[in-house]
Amino acid sequence: MSAARPTVLLVEDEPAQREVLAYNLGAAGLDVIQAADGEEALLLVAEGAPDLILLDWMLPHVSGIEVCRQLKARSATRGVPIIMLSARSEEVDMLRGLDTGADDYMTKPYSLAELMARVQAQLRRTRPAAVGSRLEFQDIVLDGETHRVTRAGHEVKLGPTEFRLLATLMEKPGRVLSREQLLDRVWGRDIHVDSRTVDVHVGRLRKALLLHGEGNPLRTVRGAGYALG
Ligand code: CA
Repeated sequence: MSAARPTVLLVEDEPAQREVLAYNLGAAGLDVIQAADGEEALLLVAEGAPDLILLDWMLPHVSGIEVCRQLKARSATRGVPIIMLSARSEEVDMLRGLDTGADDYMTKPYSLAELMARVQAQLRRTRPAAVGSRLEFQDIVLDGETHRVTRAGHEVKLGPTEFRLLATLMEKPGRVLSREQLLDRVWGRDIHVDSRTVDVHVGRLRKALLLHGEGNPLRTVRGAGYALG
């Protein structure tokens, strides 16, 4: 498994289209959660923000535009990239004009290859380690492709969980992640492990990093979680 697989929320009311997209996103190594309407989409986002949202414009109950507006208006979800899907190119022009805050737009019928490329482009911005990028923080270098970590030029041997933990923290240094957020991102939201497990693996990661460099880069934020730097 690579660094904590990114989760994509796919919001599309037509089952056949949803199925094709879900299959292709899964084949690209992404975890997919699905919603058939806007209301369901908002509920799923409230349960735990996905890494990216593919959002159909024409949806029953709450439209894609409304979902987009609501998510971009909240600080907790503003940073989640949204790619809007709509039926015709004139609609895309209109969507752009509506200033929904969406990060990208695609017109149906779209090329799957093009859509997947745009998904990867958005994820490279928000989840760089998960899509194979190289990350640096102080004297620590993490290569998302080869899964190698070095500190001050020395190789740091990490287990797969510690690697994913470090990758998740290095994607946004300074940001505090709660134990629950780390469980979601590192272990996956379908796996139920005790939150103390997080502490155990953070301890191992910290120890491994301290073997090769000066100073502890992994900060414990009392009552909140963990952060890098
Ligand atoms: Ca639709």
